[in-house]
Amino acid sequence: MISLPSPGEISKAHNGILFLDELPLFNRKTLEVMRQPLEDGVVTISGVLRSTTFPADFMLVAVANPCPCGYRSDPRRNCNCTPPQVEKYMSKISGPLLDRIDMHIEVSAVPFEELSSKAASGTFSAQMRLVVQRAREVQAERFADGPQGVRYNAQMTSRQVRQHCALNESCQKMLRHSLEEMGLSARAHDKILRVCRTIADIAGEADINEIHLAEAINYRNSDRDLWV
Ligand SMILES: [Zn+2]
Repeated sequence: MISLPSPGEISKAHNGILFLDELPLFNRKTLEVMRQPLEDGVVTISGVLRSTTFPADFMLVAVANPCPCGYRSDPRRNCNCTPPQVEKYMSKISGPLLDRIDMHIEVSAVPFEELSSKAASGTFSAQMRLVVQRAREVQAERFADGPQGVRYNAQMTSRQVRQHCALNESCQKMLRHSLEEMGLSARAHDKILRVCRTIADIAGEADINEIHLAEAINYRNSDRDLWV
């Protein structure tokens, strides 16, 4: 009997979001398999007789604790994890996988008073929706005459990145300095610029400035300090 390959989780998440909770608890091999689909938007499953390619253009959203107990970065709780325990936990996520994730954000624990307070603060979903829609419209216009398959900033080729993410002299200096300091890859360089373009689009600005760039660089922080 021949077993037919069937689409897995990343194909089921095609054109949508794949959410992985507690990323370091996944099998490292399983996580590494995502590297190619994250680049190409397709996944090829090799069978005995033939291989099959499934679509897998998904947005990866993942969550990880800073250590096995979860309190390493919490000033109000004690973390008793030993450095080797933390290292083992974090080593499940490889540098190359992390490199393929555009934005890394450290989220601190929310104090109880804030959770229980009735007055909501910050941006409401409806407001955020309008902002995202506006940024999408800018991108639709930008890529209307471009190559097929590029609809959003995140999909820009290196050539398009050079075309649409021009930096002034002071931004160029800032980026060069950060890349050297953080030891970032060429891939991270392009990712920072793509994210930067989106931040400028959301701000409604045609030109990228130092504030947009600093925010985009900030999203690469865990390349440097989260990993022990
Ligand atoms: Zn801990």
